[in-house]
Amino acid sequence: MSRRIQKMPSKPLKPCNKRGCPILTRGRYCDDHKQLNNSYDTNRGTAAQRGYKRIAVAIPVL
Ligand SMILES: [Zn+2]
Repeated sequence: MSRRIQKMPSKPLKPCNKRGCPILTRGRYCDDHKQLNNSYDTNRGTAAQRGYKRIAVAIPVL
């Protein structure tokens, strides 16, 4: 007789890292904002890897 014990990762649920997002998640971001983190990281890596030229894009911050 072998008991099948499902070992569930006991990770505490934390609120999404995104401010204003009350969704609890086990990761940094909730499922909805998970893409933010991913895209952000990818963007950075891609830009650095490709060695993009410095494009002077002045974004007026109000
Ligand atoms: Zn979120």
